[in-house]
Amino acid sequence: MFGSKDHLSSLDGHLYIEEVDCCRLAAEEGTPLYVTSERRLRENIRCYHRAFPDADKYFAVKANGNLTILQIAAQEGMGADVFSAGELSLVRMAGIPRDMILFNGNSKSELDHAAALRAGVRISMDSNEELEHLARTACELGLEGEILFRVNPDVSPKTHPKIATGLRSSKFGISAEEVAGAYQRAMDLEGIKPVGLHCHIGSQILQTAPFAEAAERMMDILREVTAKGGEVERIDLGGGLGIQYHPDVPAPSPSDLAQAILPVIEDGCRDLGISPRLILEPGRSIVADSTIMLTRVNVVKRAAVNFAAVDAGFNVLARPMLYDSYHHILPVDHAEGREEMIYTIVGPICESGDILARDRPLPRLVRGDVLAFLDAGAYGFSMASQYNGQPRPAEILVSGDGWEVIRRREDASALLAGQTIPPRLMW
Ligand SMILES: *Cc1c(COP(=O)(O)O)cnc(C)c1O
Repeated sequence: MFGSKDHLSSLDGHLYIEEVDCCRLAAEEGTPLYVTSERRLRENIRCYHRAFPDADKYFAVKANGNLTILQIAAQEGMGADVFSAGELSLVRMAGIPRDMILFNGNSKSELDHAAALRAGVRISMDSNEELEHLARTACELGLEGEILFRVNPDVSPKTHPKIATGLRSSKFGISAEEVAGAYQRAMDLEGIKPVGLHCHIGSQILQTAPFAEAAERMMDILREVTAKGGEVERIDLGGGLGIQYHPDVPAPSPSDLAQAILPVIEDGCRDLGISPRLILEPGRSIVADSTIMLTRVNVVKRAAVNFAAVDAGFNVLARPMLYDSYHHILPVDHAEGREEMIYTIVGPICESGDILARDRPLPRLVRGDVLAFLDAGAYGFSMASQYNGQPRPAEILVSGDGWEVIRRREDASALLAGQTIPPRLMW
């Protein structure tokens, strides 16, 4: 195994996750299957706590909304970054305290605002207009909402364009020049109370420099807001730390991130004589490498290239198709003496773009072989769909030599959920 994937190992030619044989998992639980190592998940969270002992860490729920994973995040002392009323209800159910939840989003409805206000969580303001909307709803409900301002810091992380969120052209946030004015406006409005600043510059960022740059920009804005009499209790720098998907492309650790941003924040705050609470919102770097996705080969076909068609497509793992992402693949059973071949791995979906991996050297594959896609815990199941009439897969939690189902596999009845045929058509 590469990197620090010590929850994965190989024994007698079989891939193990913790002390569980992946061949057994696939045989007994079926495929496609998401399998999470509880040990790895907890260790990832503790790594953030060690790097940032004084900061709050809000798990970005969109990366993985499984209730058991959220429960573990809660047990390990994480808060939550939620993007919808649905995610809010999940994290409340998992026991994450309301004081540790931020409701984000660039397009919140009145119902979203009401849900956030009633739950008593902080809300991120994405535009000047949203201030007025939220204040009105809060007054109608007789409630007050604490708000953070989502700042667009205009920094350019070198990442896939679909996951860069802090560029001037991005749909997220209020431009840096406008924030201090908006903060003042919010201080005058009834029903809302500005308490902090927030930014999130993108995802799968593999250098620490853009984070340091964003922290600098946030300190500039903090100075401006403070000069105008704003009280800033919280500075939220978002998530976005990348992980090592490819064996040759290393990623910074949470402690590398801490070294890059903590001095900037400490200097900035010391100059102002204030000590706002730092918040981080890691998603991917908490869950991605804790989870593998097992999929079984249905057909091997020699055409322009060697295709191995497996039972998971972009309905199960959307990242390769959405972001051209690389997921490292390991055979679950390393049968002796098989020659190495180059394969393009495709799914069962009726679209030519349903390609999970290209040109991968793997031992010669036959029908029934199981492959493990590594680092599938972030934006994996959470982006799974029922497209093409495919029920969604099961999720498993492995701890030591045992495992538990943490989400049952859907069956065909899930495809019918919520559907009705109007009686007039039933003849
Ligand atoms: C997506 C998102 C995150 C998490 O990003 P990762 O790259 O998964 O760490 C954090 N904060 C906000 C506002 C987000 O939109």
